Amino acid sequence: MKIETIDCNLIAAYTKSGIFPYKLGIYLYIADGLLIDTGSAAILKKTKFLLKKENINCLALTHVHEDHTGAAAWIKENLKIPVYLNNNSITEASMGTKLPLYRKLVWGDREGFAADPMPAFIETEKYKFDVIDAPGHHKDHVAFHEKSMGWLFTGDLYVSRRQVVAFKDENINDAINSIKKILNLDFDTIFCGHSGVHKNGREKLKSKLDYFVKLQGEVRELEKEGLGYKEINRRLFPKKNLWSIISRGEWSSLNMVKTV
Ligand SMILES: [Zn+2]
Repeated sequence: MKIETIDCNLIAAYTKSGIFPYKLGIYLYIADGLLIDTGSAAILKKTKFLLKKENINCLALTHVHEDHTGAAAWIKENLKIPVYLNNNSITEASMGTKLPLYRKLVWGDREGFAADPMPAFIETEKYKFDVIDAPGHHKDHVAFHEKSMGWLFTGDLYVSRRQVVAFKDENINDAINSIKKILNLDFDTIFCGHSGVHKNGREKLKSKLDYFVKLQGEVRELEKEGLGYKEINRRLFPKKNLWSIISRGEWSSLNMVKTV
């Protein structure tokens, strides 16, 4: 596990989750006692020491997916701290997951946990994090904005500039609207759950927005020509994506086309 001090009161912890060849990177962040996302259940054995050592007094979750909430049950039971999650995801969080095999191998099933309703903002001794609704990657996804520091914790809203497959929960049109809204906020640095710290975060989010908007235009043009989603998908994404095959379509470019 790689631990990096970003600022005197902010650390980023990075590790990989899964077994070869299905290994993916995860970041968790601890800002002045606030833990943002927990990573997967599969990495808990690596993160436990850090979770015990840092004086964590609150956990805030960007969304309910298992790679962000995998240690929430352990944290609730052992650290006995508030675990904030979007109100609309609390019921889902209370039940453990029964994941398809590929997700079980990469992230591991997460136990159910009793989440607390997300407040409008979270205050630590030094910082104030405004909770920003940011649906797109998931309908109940939120981001955390620390205005005075210019920080934005984006969960899975950014990940990368380009995206060729979308998860079954994703809605690209919602993501477009969320990014547009977020670009009105004051921030420079974004903290992503998978691709880490981006100092030029505003520019990167803008570039992701441009990519989505361009794709939206292309899909609309082809729709006007009378093409259905499947045909549009074949034209715009002719190459089969490996994740699409492994996940049996849970991740697909078709979902990008349908929801953009
Ligand atoms: Zn996610």
